[in-house]
Amino acid sequence: MPELVDSHGRIIDYIRLSLTDRCNFRCVYCMPPEGEKRIPHDEILSYEELLRLSRILASMGVSRYKITGGEPLCRKDAVEFIRDLKNLPGVKQVTLTTNGVLLGPSVERLAAIGLDGLNVSLDTLSQGHYGAITRSKSPLAEVLPVMAKARALGILVKINVVPLRGYNEDDLPELAAFALKHGYHIRFIELMPVGLGAEHEGVPQDEVRAMIENSFGALSPLDRVIGNGPAEHFSVDGHKGSVGFISALSKKFCRQCNRIRLTSSGYLKSCLHHNIGIELKGLLRSGASDKDIEEAVMSAVRKKPLAHDLSRSRGEKGKAAFLMNSVGG
Ligand code: SAM
Ligand code: SF4
Repeated sequence: MPELVDSHGRIIDYIRLSLTDRCNFRCVYCMPPEGEKRIPHDEILSYEELLRLSRILASMGVSRYKITGGEPLCRKDAVEFIRDLKNLPGVKQVTLTTNGVLLGPSVERLAAIGLDGLNVSLDTLSQGHYGAITRSKSPLAEVLPVMAKARALGILVKINVVPLRGYNEDDLPELAAFALKHGYHIRFIELMPVGLGAEHEGVPQDEVRAMIENSFGALSPLDRVIGNGPAEHFSVDGHKGSVGFISALSKKFCRQCNRIRLTSSGYLKSCLHHNIGIELKGLLRSGASDKDIEEAVMSAVRKKPLAHDLSRSRGEKGKAAFLMNSVGG
């Protein structure tokens, strides 16, 4: 398998593909209450274009794919796209991140096509807090059984939590207890001050860890690798699940970064926090050869910055002024 390497020696083998900017939620740190800026349908890459690009990327060594959004399950035929993506040569792993609300009707088909993992974003187990964070009236009670069903069908389920001061900080031990009891892997993702995230205060990793250790005792580093990314995972005595932390600010992991991102309209972003990348839609639609597209991808990867320069300060919107739903996390 060839390797795609950036100019800092990092191997890029993982991509987050956003299927849509649309979402059925309006999480306070991600989407404005009025919703996303509407992108005309023909500005969004078609599934055929996404599959062609993925085939080229896979031939360059990008073997792991996270399907994201917006809410990826808001896009029609997302499951069929995932099936086709999984069948491409060189694609070793396809996982999905979702708020879980639309998962019910798709979960059996996702298991049948061999989805390699499911990340469910779930910031609280309190319906009141859930409504306040997601700005939706959706019943939390409908998501939990679907997660259980996914796990029963053999899909690896992880829970993603963004600890948010004033919204869910008191709910974190309960979430961890729930995850550990049911054998899920739970990861606490430090709030990044980008887009609407800059208007809120996250809870730093050390504080979250102290809360969890207060409830469960000391965490021990896990002796196996879970997932594709920068999470540090810990085990808790007597439990199958694990507790992880993804802390872009407290524990900057840029030196180990292995990923690129594609927006739904075809912009390949080499770093979440910098607008450095390349517009691929024009190339895909203007008769460019696979070789031309390979070269464009390589040029974007070569420009991948060494690190982000986000600080913890709130209100620092300047550099990465995008909304997270347009990039997919
Ligand atoms: N709708 C899907 C979901 O919620 O899983 C996929 C898209 S969402 C943008 C992907 C992930 O990004 C979610 O886990 C969400 O919590 C996280 N996220 C969004 N804004 C964030 C921010 N400012 N800082 C940290 N994580 C954020
Ligand atoms: Fe939607 Fe996910 Fe953003 Fe929440 S975090 S608004 S569910 S895209």
